[in-house]
Amino acid sequence: MSAIWIRTLWLLLAVVCLVCAPVAIVLGVTTGLAALVVSLLLVLGWHLVHLQQLLGWLEGGLDNPLPRGRGVWEVIFAGLHRRVRIRLSQQQVLSETLERFVRAFQALPDGVIAFDRHRHIDWINERAEMHFALSAAIDRGQALTNLIRHPDFVTYLDGGNYAEPLIYRGGRVKGLTLMLQIIPYGIDQNLLVSRDISQIERTEIMRRDFIANVSHELKTPLTVVAGFSEMLADDYGAYVDTEIKHYLSLIREQTARMQRLIEDLLTLSALESGGPAPNEERVELEAMLHSVLAEARVLSAGRHEITLSIEKPSALFGCANELRSAFANLAGNAVRYTPPGGRIELIWRVQQGFGEFVVADTGIGIAEQHLPRLTERFYRVDRSRSRETGGTGLGLAIVKHVLTRHLATLEIESEPGKGSHFIARFPAHCLLA
Ligand code: ADP
Repeated sequence: MSAIWIRTLWLLLAVVCLVCAPVAIVLGVTTGLAALVVSLLLVLGWHLVHLQQLLGWLEGGLDNPLPRGRGVWEVIFAGLHRRVRIRLSQQQVLSETLERFVRAFQALPDGVIAFDRHRHIDWINERAEMHFALSAAIDRGQALTNLIRHPDFVTYLDGGNYAEPLIYRGGRVKGLTLMLQIIPYGIDQNLLVSRDISQIERTEIMRRDFIANVSHELKTPLTVVAGFSEMLADDYGAYVDTEIKHYLSLIREQTARMQRLIEDLLTLSALESGGPAPNEERVELEAMLHSVLAEARVLSAGRHEITLSIEKPSALFGCANELRSAFANLAGNAVRYTPPGGRIELIWRVQQGFGEFVVADTGIGIAEQHLPRLTERFYRVDRSRSRETGGTGLGLAIVKHVLTRHLATLEIESEPGKGSHFIARFPAHCLLA
């Protein structure tokens, strides 16, 4: 600042010494004073021109180029220029930091909505847009409770106790279960954090259903075994030989049923553990399918006409044990769900590069609404028929898993009363010449 004063004083001194004093000496004091006034007016005009330039610049944005000045104005403009540069670079750093935070919030697997004390939305990340069917561009500035009106949420928000999260169902997005939590921060600022727990909830329901199903499946055979063994243990002598034999055969039947269930459960659990199919090797289908055919004929005990046809190439890359169990399951089901006198065809064919194992029967068939659910664990169309024929309700779930592990698919075509086609389709790269 002192430099400006000194420059101004030097200027005045220069005007007086170089203009006014010589004029006053040559043309008299009055003319000298007039020259001083004119000089001062010129200096004032020069300052006004620079001030006007400064005002013009101030009206524009910070990044407008500064006017060029001379003398004291050069110093002023240079100082301003320096400050503007510092401010612009601070702004740049700030906006980069902000940008980084925004990107981090956008990348969060959780939804985040920032809102103020009037519950007006400041900011929404993409995940929250999906969770609540909102649009950041349209809904920013709107009252949160105008957009999320569910009474559970409004009560939670009004309650002010955010220590526990809110499990939120029935929002605008169907089938979505969210865990919501409000986190106050700063001065009267809040974050609404939402986490999609639909999958966790579905898994939990499946787990509960599974335990209920297994318990239910075990309950009947256990009751039979417990009942008869208790009867015999309590009063063995009260029964004749034929009765005892009958009770023991019932016990054996129910024990076998429990064994089958446990075996299927263990198979399923091994398959669901998600590891790669063990011992992948070249599997010759000809030998395997002949043994599946033989097994099906034993199960049928001559009640059905069962045939097998095999097309080349008939070797697969995979796990022989798993494939055998899947194919035997399909063939076994055909026998169990086809009334005596029916026909069952086991076919290996190659179609449009895909290898297909088809089990076609003329059995009871399946109504369309059941088809999508058949491979669910314990799903049965007719529970009592399945039990009567020794079913565990896990066969097709096992088949589906085995096929998925071999990158194959299961297709089911069926018509009630006419019969079914179960088609296991293997991709071309699994076929071996
Ligand atoms: P289950 O042990 O009950 O046979 P699965 O998982 O093998 O269990 O099959 C599920 C259900 O699909 C069966 O209960 C039955 O209702 C139906 N199903 C399977 N295969 C056939 C078939 N070939 N014909 C008619 N229904 C079938």
